[in-house]
Amino acid sequence: MSSAFPTIDQTSFQNSFVEELRGDTSNLNRPRQVPGYHYSRVEPTPVQDPRLLAWSDDLAAFLGLAKPTERGSAVDALAGNLVTGSMKPFAARYGGHQFGSWAGQLGDGRAISLGEVTATDGTFWEIQLKGAGPTPYSRRADGRAVLRSSLREFLCSEAMHHLGVPTTRALSLVGTGDLVVRDMFYNGNPQAEPGAIVARVAPTFVRFGNFQMMASAGELDNLRALADYVIRRYYPELGEPTGPEVYVRWFEEICRRTAVMIAYWMSVGFVHGVMNTDNMSILGLTIDYGPYGWLEPYDPDWTPNTTDFGSRRYAYGQQPNVGLWNLWQLARALAHLVPDPELLRPGLDLYSSTFEQTRHEMMLHKLGLTSQNPEEDKALFEALHEALAGAEVDMTLFFRHLSHAAPAVLRHPASADTAWPELLAAAAYSTSPEEEQSLTQWLHRYLLRLQQETAAPEAIRERMLSANPKYVLRNYLAQQAIEAAEAGNLSVLERLMQVLKTPFAEQPEHEDLAAKRPDWAREKPGCATLSCSS
Ligand code: AMP
Ligand code: MG
Repeated sequence: MSSAFPTIDQTSFQNSFVEELRGDTSNLNRPRQVPGYHYSRVEPTPVQDPRLLAWSDDLAAFLGLAKPTERGSAVDALAGNLVTGSMKPFAARYGGHQFGSWAGQLGDGRAISLGEVTATDGTFWEIQLKGAGPTPYSRRADGRAVLRSSLREFLCSEAMHHLGVPTTRALSLVGTGDLVVRDMFYNGNPQAEPGAIVARVAPTFVRFGNFQMMASAGELDNLRALADYVIRRYYPELGEPTGPEVYVRWFEEICRRTAVMIAYWMSVGFVHGVMNTDNMSILGLTIDYGPYGWLEPYDPDWTPNTTDFGSRRYAYGQQPNVGLWNLWQLARALAHLVPDPELLRPGLDLYSSTFEQTRHEMMLHKLGLTSQNPEEDKALFEALHEALAGAEVDMTLFFRHLSHAAPAVLRHPASADTAWPELLAAAAYSTSPEEEQSLTQWLHRYLLRLQQETAAPEAIRERMLSANPKYVLRNYLAQQAIEAAEAGNLSVLERLMQVLKTPFAEQPEHEDLAAKRPDWAREKPGCATLSCSS
């Protein structure tokens, strides 16, 4: 089947971003400010020996692209070594708030977009090479990416997609054959690591920071042109951007999508790790996978990002607040497009109400409940989060085991005496008798609530299993795939890709990938702690 499809080097690209927006065409590829422009045209810098390491069959089938051979012109295109006639590569200019402070111009310092391909459903998808070499936005860095961070981005984007979380995608992981020097924990230990390039895919990679950049530079024509481009192309349901009311409704829709995205993160235990405004997609997609992590013990204060250990600004439990703060910053930029900034306030309110409502619905789903008394249920959910946070319980395992245990106890209430301790033993890393007691009390309370449901236990179980994944990209699993890949063995990566395609299915032969985090991974760099160095 797929052989009927062209490979990427045989595909024709569209270039809407380049053609519809203002481009710096000076061809001066050295770090600099680029006032007045949306992007710079820049060619990727070739690498030594590009070789295909991983490929997303699923995304490729959707895009209508054939899998490349390990080496050859298709992989050359995915590595930036071959720029075909229809590609017009560019790096976008954006700014952003990093850890709460305005950082000025950032931009695509190592990501270069090739243009857009047409998917099998007729929609357009931008293909962007991350790690493709320096651009005018590289500042003091090298424009490259290492294998470990590229593999993490590749695996996690696809895993998130299969979990149903709005996200950018990843088509390929290519080893460059070059070494890249990184001081992984910024502690004076630079090492040469294998380089890699991910081909990321999304309708567009425009971020909040693109608008902030134009507003902060006082480039209001550019601000409006970018807004109109994004609305016409990605929010056509809003109609022609002819007046302020369209910008207002657009902002509301961005707020709504961002709320839904973060509700999903909370539901599956994903911690982005670096929610700077330059890492917030204007389409409400999870973007820029860096020092992200998955909650193992449920802990609202947990962040994987060592750079954030001081303030824990981007910890799991902070993500909903940070989403709102980031939307405030976007509103400040978009305020230039409307006569009164107050017109944007309903969008921010919509963010909060959408988040609350979506989170609530997702919790109902995770617990096999249908909406009855929202206030009582809210209290039930809060009590669970408190009991989980007070103990050391694996979030994914808790909900997954509960999906089996709760319907069984519903059928035979007397079995609770054995089922609840078994559940806690399966999910807890360690608990004191008091912690265990508060969790057991919650389970009893939950059982009473579950008994008000009319659905059969089997139906409740099915419902819960479809909301509580068995397989997530546990931090140590990604690290094992990295260590194997660095040693030339891609089988761990391939197995993870396969299993994470159906994260809600039991897949008993892969039970070991659903296991509790082993003790050795508790404090290990790459498993428990990650830096922005990538
Ligand atoms: P991030 O923290 O990955 O979102 O990156 C923040 C900014 O730093 C963006 O403008 C990136 O393009 C830039 N950046 C990160 N790493 C590199 C690199 N190795 N070379 C050039 N620019 C980089
Ligand atoms: Mg970024």
